[in-house]
Amino acid sequence: MPYYDYQCQDCRRRVRLFMSYAEYGRNTPTCPHCHSTALKRRIGRIALAKSEDARLDAMMDDSALANLDENDPKALGQFMRKMSREMDEDLGDEFSEVVERLESGESPESIEKSMPDLGAADGGMDF
Ligand SMILES: [Zn+2]
Repeated sequence: MPYYDYQCQDCRRRVRLFMSYAEYGRNTPTCPHCHSTALKRRIGRIALAKSEDARLDAMMDDSALANLDENDPKALGQFMRKMSREMDEDLGDEFSEVVERLESGESPESIEKSMPDLGAADGGMDF
């Protein structure tokens, strides 16, 4: 079952909620510690090197992305790993899994299919 990472805006705890994709669309996430519904997604989306991502744009001042062959999952995985280091941010298990699977040669399409949360989070959610 996919999980979703949140930060509770009331008790400041990190919260991980397990729910199906259908539940995710239907339910309001609730903090299990203080029962607040003021939860903020910690990872909005994992952009598979999509150029419209503003944070990626900010990092395109070097040639890393220009030289990136997006049909080469390994190169893409290495790029994403480098990017996450530069952002100096814990992007979560989901991101790490994507990077590892890219580096092992799996195509982004195949990874997206097997991880429906990637697509679900791609709709411009606030995070
Ligand atoms: Zn809370």
